[in-house]
Amino acid sequence: MKRYDHIVVGSGISGLTLTLLMAMNGKKALLLEKGPHIGGSLIRFYKKNIPFDTGFHFTGGFSSGGILTDMLAVLGIGEQIKPIFLSGSGSGLFVFEKDNLVYDMPSGTDNFRLGLHKYFPQETSAIEAYFLKVKKVYQSTVSLDLRKIGLSAETVDEDYLSLQQVLDSLTTNDHLKALLSAFCVCYGVKPKEISFANHARVAGGLYESVARIENGGEAFIRAFKNRFTQSNIDICCNTTISECADIKNDCVGKFVLNDGDSVTATDCTFTIHPREILKILPRQHLRKAFLERVSAFETSHGFFSVFGVVENADPLTFGPSIASLLPSTDLNGLLDPRQEGDGALAIIRSVETHANKKNCVVNAFEPEFYSNLKQWADSSVGKRPADYGEYKARKVQRITQRFCALYPQYRNNFKVIDAASVLTFRDYLFSPEGNAYGIKQKMGQFNLFGKLPLVNIYVAGQSAVLPGIVGAMLSSFIIARSLIGKEKFNHFIEGELSN
Ligand SMILES: Cc1cc2nc3c(=O)[nH]c(=O)nc-3n(C[C@H](O)[C@H](O)[C@H](O)COP(=O)(O)OP(=O)(O)OC[C@H]3O[C@@H](n4cnc5c(N)ncnc54)[C@H](O)[C@@H]3O)c2cc1C
Repeated sequence: MKRYDHIVVGSGISGLTLTLLMAMNGKKALLLEKGPHIGGSLIRFYKKNIPFDTGFHFTGGFSSGGILTDMLAVLGIGEQIKPIFLSGSGSGLFVFEKDNLVYDMPSGTDNFRLGLHKYFPQETSAIEAYFLKVKKVYQSTVSLDLRKIGLSAETVDEDYLSLQQVLDSLTTNDHLKALLSAFCVCYGVKPKEISFANHARVAGGLYESVARIENGGEAFIRAFKNRFTQSNIDICCNTTISECADIKNDCVGKFVLNDGDSVTATDCTFTIHPREILKILPRQHLRKAFLERVSAFETSHGFFSVFGVVENADPLTFGPSIASLLPSTDLNGLLDPRQEGDGALAIIRSVETHANKKNCVVNAFEPEFYSNLKQWADSSVGKRPADYGEYKARKVQRITQRFCALYPQYRNNFKVIDAASVLTFRDYLFSPEGNAYGIKQKMGQFNLFGKLPLVNIYVAGQSAVLPGIVGAMLSSFIIARSLIGKEKFNHFIEGELSN
């Protein structure tokens, strides 16, 4: 039976980050991945020799001294992850389709703020008050500084106020409120359910800067793989834990794998969806209240995605850009599974190079809810019924119409290459309900994070601290600090950041 210091379950950005941090601190680590390849939502796929992103598309946090810049530097992969910043006119559009209103909002906090001043001259004090609140929360969030992170979450007053409450207290202008809450599609929680503080923690980074990464999530996977070859790490794909065995004093003594082998480890961290963790942990060691709490977490929405290409477009002017198409100003309704009609649609344009060819790629995704696809839930990839195919074809047609209405110049050259529903995401990414962000992190909710009732089992991942790759990585840094010890970890961080 092989022995490890640490087992990490799940090889998305959280699992990759934690595995490398453990190895860099002298621990022998085992990384387990249920799918055939490591990377989770970072993985790209290729159709017709064109690369497309499955999950991760863009991120904030890349400003100088930004949290992502720091995390990548500590991991020794900063040089391999090359941000392509979205900047200038046309790179960030918000479109209210019914009202025929287009707001051109380039990134950069001041650009965004002053852009709003221009569009809403009567609302400048509301806009200033909003950005002041975002700044206050963002700057007081110690977890956005690696030197100060810790398991006990610091809270501010805005953790107990919803985004909707704050917006309602500032203005009655529905378009302004919608623009200020539009990023909720990037974390999957309605304005009336998310705390203003968590909204500010995600949106604050996106206001500062928005970047795509050269070669998308694949750049991260390659960079981690390079670092892993120099480290004391074993990786097993198509593998998971089927049983936590030999439990004494709430400590798991042996981890039985799905191939029948067993391994031992001092500790193990799950970076997968909380609901999937419950399936693996032995029920008799968990309290009823714990089970009820975890079972009550709602899973976030997923996306219906259209992957396309514009043929013969000029790569020099094509992208990157993001357009957010909003059929109404009611973001609460747009994130509600019961809402009928079009959903909020994000259209990302980017130039992706593969085999020396530049491709003008379009990735369009609209929130989609598993509960609305229940009738096909039992089907699997390649074996779906005909009416599911018809549903997909209708969605693709409508999304194509909306894309062409915004960019009529591409009408004749836009080709859809593929499409995916939440069922596709569920089956390829092993994510419950094809969710994009793990659980919905609602106001007042106590997420699953840190040590579990079994004392050598920990939880990290996108459902733990904040959704998105920054929140997912951050959760792994915090867990690594717990496992390695505060003093040693702080010394390690200082050392790596000063290199
Ligand atoms: C369509 C879409 C668009 C998105 N866009 C963005 C974006 O633009 N920017 C952004 O920051 N975030 C985005 N996200 C969210 C982002 O991808 C995630 O927050 C982040 O990548 C999650 O990382 P993770 O490691 O926590 O989980 P995941 O990437 O989901 O990784 C979990 C891994 O665990 C594996 N696994 C599952 N069960 C088991 C098991 N029992 N045993 C072993 N392994 C298991 C899975 O196969 C997977 O590899 C998007 C997500 C989706 C789906």
